[in-house]
Amino acid sequence: MYKFRKEPWQEDGQWQEQIRDQVDTIEKLRQYINITPDEEDAINTLKMRWGTTPYYASLMDRDDPCCPVRKMIIPSMKETENTYGIPNYLVIKENREKTDRFGEDEKRPDSVARQYIDRVAFTITDVCPSYCRYCFRREAVIDKDLRLRFDVDEGLEWIRKHEEIRDVLLTGGDPFMLSDENIRYLIESLRSIPHLEMIRIHTKMPITCPHRITESLLDILGQEHDIPIWINVHICHPKEITDKIRKVIWDLLHTGINVGNQGVVLKGINDDVETFQKLHQKLLSVRIRPYYMFHCQLAPGVDHFRAPVEKGAELIRDGIRGHTTGLAQPMYAVSTKVGKIPLMPDYYIKGNGGERYKLESYKGETLYIPYIPE
Ligand SMILES: *Cc1c(COP(=O)(O)O)cnc(C)c1O
Repeated sequence: MYKFRKEPWQEDGQWQEQIRDQVDTIEKLRQYINITPDEEDAINTLKMRWGTTPYYASLMDRDDPCCPVRKMIIPSMKETENTYGIPNYLVIKENREKTDRFGEDEKRPDSVARQYIDRVAFTITDVCPSYCRYCFRREAVIDKDLRLRFDVDEGLEWIRKHEEIRDVLLTGGDPFMLSDENIRYLIESLRSIPHLEMIRIHTKMPITCPHRITESLLDILGQEHDIPIWINVHICHPKEITDKIRKVIWDLLHTGINVGNQGVVLKGINDDVETFQKLHQKLLSVRIRPYYMFHCQLAPGVDHFRAPVEKGAELIRDGIRGHTTGLAQPMYAVSTKVGKIPLMPDYYIKGNGGERYKLESYKGETLYIPYIPE
């Protein structure tokens, strides 16, 4: 029988300390790494919101400026360059101007983003314990020049009125930044809506601040299994997966919560076959099921992170499919205003005359299967 074994860092109070002591100044950062002149220049010049938890900062390599965790967290002057990013990206991406999609008769609350008939993304906060530089919501979360009203009650009211919604995905910012009391209120409110069949929580906090997975949070999430909670975390590099992560994923699974991963293909961070394969193997080794790997979205100021469109498909073809456990394979996709669109590698080509399909194995071997008419 499983019994919750509380680690000292899972005591209540520890996660709040991680938030309070956020590493968000040069002085604090210096305790973890030897800052390069470029890093210091970007922090001082850009004056952008940045920061991470002491725990996550401790994963940074003290001397290597190419450390993936450093690159994901420390601002760069490259954020001022923008060739591909779309201005006002989030308004376009989340269909915030349209009121008539899916037959809606009034403007949706700012907190509700909709691309599908049966499910919505419900943004409940715009703060994070750790700010990823490649964030696609950076206009609202980092730059704050897009002012949105993330009012939980207004969002709940909208969901209550829309009976076609059966799946609500909590997002942010980071949803686990809310207090236990507010999370309890939110989950209880959602679970009292008769047409809801499931709740999803998209959070990086188990990774940037595993301390957040406390006994009382597990108690809140673990109640009442008729309406299950699915969590998707956000891991892009194997270095992010530590013993603390292993522990909190184990705890979450034991309360009946499935945990998946949504990552982003990031240039110079995980876009080589070896790192990509290791990332997905290591996810499974701590019981996280890979779900999506995304092409880096067209938010402004993140060009330096964006790999070519084909990259994710190539990495799956050369490092995952056939090369390692099938469960390790994520869906490679791009998230757009009309929904998520798969960008997976093609394994079959229809042969001549429409009589058969030419298939290709992961090793490039050829095989044929017949064309079967309807
Ligand atoms: C990603 C997303 C979803 C969920 O998509 P799934 O493919 O079901 O995981 C739902 N609504 C919005 C607005 C999204 O961006």
